[in-house]
Amino acid sequence: MYDLIIIGGGAAAFSAATKANDLGATALMINSGLPLGGTCVNVGCVPSKHLLAVAEALKATTQSAFTSVRPAGISGSFSVKAARAEKDELVAGLRARNYSAVLESLEHVSFRQGRGRIVAPGKVDAGGETVEGRHVLIATGSRASVPPIPGLREAGYLTNVEALALDEAPARLVVIGGGPLGLEFAQIFSRFGSHVTVLEAQPHIVPRAEPEIAAVLQAALEADGIAIRTGMRIQRVEPGLIKTVVCGPAATDCFEADAILVATGIRANIEELGFAAAGGRLNEAGFIEATNWYEAGQELWAAGDVTGRMPLETVAAREGALAASNALEGRRDSLDYDAVPWAVFTSPQLAGVGLTEDESMARTHYCNCRTVSYAQVPRAMAVKDTMGAVKLTADRENRIRGAYACGTGAAEIIHEATLAVRLGLTVDDIINTVHVFPTYSEAIKLAALAFTRDVSVMTCCIG
Ligand SMILES: Cc1cc2nc3c(=O)[nH]c(=O)nc-3n(C[C@H](O)[C@H](O)[C@H](O)COP(=O)(O)OP(=O)(O)OC[C@H]3O[C@@H](n4cnc5c(N)ncnc54)[C@H](O)[C@@H]3O)c2cc1C
Repeated sequence: MYDLIIIGGGAAAFSAATKANDLGATALMINSGLPLGGTCVNVGCVPSKHLLAVAEALKATTQSAFTSVRPAGISGSFSVKAARAEKDELVAGLRARNYSAVLESLEHVSFRQGRGRIVAPGKVDAGGETVEGRHVLIATGSRASVPPIPGLREAGYLTNVEALALDEAPARLVVIGGGPLGLEFAQIFSRFGSHVTVLEAQPHIVPRAEPEIAAVLQAALEADGIAIRTGMRIQRVEPGLIKTVVCGPAATDCFEADAILVATGIRANIEELGFAAAGGRLNEAGFIEATNWYEAGQELWAAGDVTGRMPLETVAAREGALAASNALEGRRDSLDYDAVPWAVFTSPQLAGVGLTEDESMARTHYCNCRTVSYAQVPRAMAVKDTMGAVKLTADRENRIRGAYACGTGAAEIIHEATLAVRLGLTVDDIINTVHVFPTYSEAIKLAALAFTRDVSVMTCCIG
């Protein structure tokens, strides 16, 4: 009898296994489907960020912000196939180092390759053999959700998995969905040579972000050569051997595609999991329903994408560790989701944490917000990189409740705001903190200063 049986082998599972091992508890991890490490290392964060960096390097061969530097274009060689091979090698290395070797180092944790299926509370069929545990943690993750658009299945489509395995850039790529994943792939393939069109159903891309910050990203991506249409709910796909067409509501809303990438969200991996046998239930969106402390049934726990709370590697890892310690130590710890930062790793990047203006109004009927442009940030001015903006949201006590940024370094500078949101720091706490000059981080300080004065007429030497 194990103390904890973990079904899944991704971020949530590894974090839970590490926590169980730290507590001296015995655990069994069962994984099948994706290789060890799950989505993030194999078909998610790592390969996509690698290819974005390759695409950025390619872009630098043709474009410079400085008139004194004239790029000569690519004088060496580039091929998508070679980029894919390099990416595969990187992924294999990281999988071996960060997952296989780590698993071997956990002395109280065993592993089985196979599908996990709950047959009764505390009993799991692990690839044909029944194993028993005091607690069971479901950490089976998610996969791309494919919308029921007439004609889409017949036409064929790519998800993140297939897009990361392409050896050539499609001539015309239509991306359905303008969230982080869709935009990252859009930039990768645009820079690899595809003509890319992004179709987003909501009024603006990255619907979770502040609209004015998303608008900065849209302008930057359009300037980079990507066509973006918002408010575009796809009605049908007309498959064709030579020409496939993706159509929105109006006759003029049809876009030709050689490949279609579906990036419209995720669905939980719960098929044949048998979690109802342990009292588990699904919520309306089809994810496993769990309490704030990740309890999902009788001695049953769930963490990571399979709960659909916030599909991020960081959240999956934190939830996995919390679920394991809650199960094994009888705790009821949770995560403050308002203080979880996230990012879109395009260039420029977009990052956010906490409440948007609309969310603040909905929750508290109050919002005090300030937005500053990178055109006011000395660092951005000095290096001619002014396409960017930061928006801060504060409450009645001037505590920072949310921050959204688009621009170079956005995914780095968001951490200052994250700390502020998490610790309830005020606008003055940011203002009174000396920042390195000149840095992009000063954009956060400038946005804080904007609560107290007109920053458009201010010397950059203000203390
Ligand atoms: C293209 C892309 C880019 C991303 N970029 C980022 C990023 O930059 N930053 C970030 O924070 N997040 C990013 N994410 C999200 C992040 O990858 C996920 O949130 C995270 O990996 C989820 O971890 P998990 O442990 O919940 O699930 P997973 O990592 O998916 O692991 C679940 C594992 O369980 C296995 N499994 C499923 N069913 C069973 C079963 N019945 N029995 C046994 N095993 C089973 C699966 O095959 C898989 O191996 C990205 C995702 C994608 C797709």
